Amino acid sequence: MQRRDFLLSSLAGAGMARGAGARRPNILFIMADDHASHAISAYGSRINRTPNIDRIAQGGVRMDNCFCTNSICTPSRGVILTGQYSHITGVKTLQDPLDPARQNVAKLLQAGGYATGIVGKWHLHKDPAGFDYWNILPGQGAYYDPVFIENGEKKKHQGYCTDLIGDFSLNWLKGRPKDKPFFLMCHHKAPHRNWQPGPKYAHLFDGQTIPEPDNLFDDYAHRSEAAHRARMRVGENMNRNDVKTDFPPGLKGNDLRRWAYQLYIKDYLRCVQSVDDNVGRLLDYLKAENLEQDTIVIYTSDQGFFLGDHGWFDKRFMYEESLRMPFLMRYPREIKPGGLNRDMVLNLDFAETFLDYAGLKVPADMQGRSFRQNLRGRTPKDWRKSMYYRYWMHLTNDHYVAAHYGVRTHTHKLIYYYGKPLGATGTGKEITPPEWELFDLKSDPREMRSVYGEAEYAKVQADLTKEMARLQELYRDTPA
Ligand code: CA
Repeated sequence: MQRRDFLLSSLAGAGMARGAGARRPNILFIMADDHASHAISAYGSRINRTPNIDRIAQGGVRMDNCFCTNSICTPSRGVILTGQYSHITGVKTLQDPLDPARQNVAKLLQAGGYATGIVGKWHLHKDPAGFDYWNILPGQGAYYDPVFIENGEKKKHQGYCTDLIGDFSLNWLKGRPKDKPFFLMCHHKAPHRNWQPGPKYAHLFDGQTIPEPDNLFDDYAHRSEAAHRARMRVGENMNRNDVKTDFPPGLKGNDLRRWAYQLYIKDYLRCVQSVDDNVGRLLDYLKAENLEQDTIVIYTSDQGFFLGDHGWFDKRFMYEESLRMPFLMRYPREIKPGGLNRDMVLNLDFAETFLDYAGLKVPADMQGRSFRQNLRGRTPKDWRKSMYYRYWMHLTNDHYVAAHYGVRTHTHKLIYYYGKPLGATGTGKEITPPEWELFDLKSDPREMRSVYGEAEYAKVQADLTKEMARLQELYRDTPA
């Protein structure tokens, strides 16, 4: 180690790196779309291996309780950029644009002297603001030979979307102004539905049987009507584009679910494999350019996903598999390799965390908090012990999940499906009843049995109800 590096790393170790003259790290933020942590081997996946994503965990820290505040693509992206809940950003549903005039973390980093770029999925409807360079997919984008919009100009490209996002990210890194630290958001489209693999992995898992989750055949007993009603069942609620073949005539019930699960999960994991390759390409570039020490690398996803869990695909619910985001981060100057942390952090905190590393002020209207110290294993004493969640897209036609809000602690989860008329999004006739669920996450981590209303949980239920109201007030949300 050079003497200068030694001094700087000692300063960082003593928590004194901020302020004038401190080194400002590059930030490489890699985000997939719908990549659940239980399909990452660093998180103990039973169904696949992700050697390159694992490199980030091996060289840094794995966060085990990173949650999104609204488990759906567009809103979660709005939260990540602004550090504000969906009811503040106005991006509550897939259709809501993020107003480019709003404050966002890219604008702040750009103004603070960072070179800023975004490549890949954007999905916030209006043009990105705060990025020196942007090369994004229109809407969801296409897996094969996709159109990209590069700084406002549409171009069609040949190739597989995930590899192209890797190419464009590398191109920008190579040509970036070298006199500034960089902030790059590399946003993969994969492994979003309809899970179209690239040519390299089209036959991965052929002839294999992927292990099924233990609740693939969940019958939703002891759960809300909302769980029964949701149209996210593997097989039953899929179409030909999902399974990419004809449904065998007469195949029904559990047999249909088992058959469709194998087809769907293999394609999903094939998509993940290309993402993993492209994570590796970026890591290799950092190594070759001697940028590893000075670059924060993050791997995450805009939210989780049901991988046949509860018999489902998709997300939206506040249940664990959908709520949990993978979050792996490497930054050798501050974070020891191979770390594990169970503090509760949220997508709401990302912007604040980036600003903290950049030595920039966090605006007062951001609602999260930097978890820089948590990543180093130094959890602030007053760190949050509960989180607030809200899903707004009430019974939209495709998946038919009831709007709900809730609170999660380290041990329990309370969910309120507030119910309302179906209105313009459906038949206009259906009214859903308000209903509650309470889960004991210690004894029932798979959330198979709601204990709401059970005498033994009366105190927990009362406490969580109060906590939910406190968080709604804190975040200025309006109860239904
Ligand atoms: Ca998503």
